[in-house]
Amino acid sequence: NQQVILKDFVTGFPRESDFEVTTSTVSLKLPEWSEKGVLVKNQYLSCDPYMRILMHKADLSFPIDFFTPGSVIFGYGVAKVLESGDPNLKEGDLVWGITGWEEYSVIEDPQKLFKIHHSDVPLSYYTGILGMAGMTAYFGFYDVCCPKKGEYVFVSAASGAVGQLVGQFAKSLGCYVVGTAGTQQKIDLLKNKLGFDEAFNYKEESDLNAALKRHFPEGIDIYFENVGGKMLDAVLGNMRAYGRIAACGMISQYNLEKPDGVYNLLRIILQRIRVQGFEVFDYYHRYSEFLDAVLPLIRARKLTYVEDIADGLNAGPAALVGLFSGRNVGKQVVAVVPQ
Ligand code: NDP
Repeated sequence: NQQVILKDFVTGFPRESDFEVTTSTVSLKLPEWSEKGVLVKNQYLSCDPYMRILMHKADLSFPIDFFTPGSVIFGYGVAKVLESGDPNLKEGDLVWGITGWEEYSVIEDPQKLFKIHHSDVPLSYYTGILGMAGMTAYFGFYDVCCPKKGEYVFVSAASGAVGQLVGQFAKSLGCYVVGTAGTQQKIDLLKNKLGFDEAFNYKEESDLNAALKRHFPEGIDIYFENVGGKMLDAVLGNMRAYGRIAACGMISQYNLEKPDGVYNLLRIILQRIRVQGFEVFDYYHRYSEFLDAVLPLIRARKLTYVEDIADGLNAGPAALVGLFSGRNVGKQVVAVVPQ
């Protein structure tokens, strides 16, 4: 059983060398201690920015499970059931949810898994567009941003797993959408493949405020926040009255010991801006509503999804840490069995 292990707690930017890929023997039987669990064979693993937070020493003020040095890391994935102690799952079923970064896992709490009923679309999509990232984009945009036709929408980390979908949802509603990303290849992708009206490379702008003024001379109605820090500050300075900010993530802050300052906070009051943080888990009970909306769009090719698939668990650590330097183009996935 090939496994990805976290060697020690991480400070600063995570590196490939913070992980080790080891091999251990595995019994392909559900262990006796896990009567109600399931034994699965993992197919695809999802690389997600929040996993950086789990590399810290456990912080009891966060009610989440952190990684344990010396143990297998875990995250969202797609898996096939080999043996089940859960009456709702049987051998051969496909599921998505939290699993180990390894070939075979025992999942002790299978109630938290989502059963996959539609396999006419790529299975890897359940790590992204049809899984956690897709729900984040869908509910974050439609529920949290309360968008209206014709509004000016700005998306950061726009070519990533979440951002590329937010931009397409906003376009389909008739909004004007600008995205930002960190390479020319991603800018071309946003404009030529994903239908954004405009896009700019934030790494090439010495003055983010000026870049936003150039793209939004009349200001921003909706900001889908994925990066935080200096970008958030510049955006606040360009928000229109009664604008809305969906605080989805702040990847620019995850590797810092101290957060970057935000000076324009007062503008939240002056411009009556609504900033709302949200966690995608709050929407998991609405998964079937989400699938009903998004699956037909995928089948009709009205939604595009760009994936970046790393081959094999050996390539997993580099793929995961690559999120923090922008190495991924689109949703970063690891195929457990090389393609
Ligand atoms: P992506 O697929 O967008 O990958 C991360 C991207 O972030 C990189 O490719 C890189 O692209 C960009 N990035 C990395 N470092 C920086 C930086 N310092 N400044 C600006 N951009 C940077 O990730 P996801 O779409 O999966 O996640 C996007 C955000 O959504 C994250 O902040 C994540 O934590 C959050 N999230 C929140 C959820 C919730 O429930 N609230 C659920 C899921 C995700 P580039 O080349 O453009 O720099």
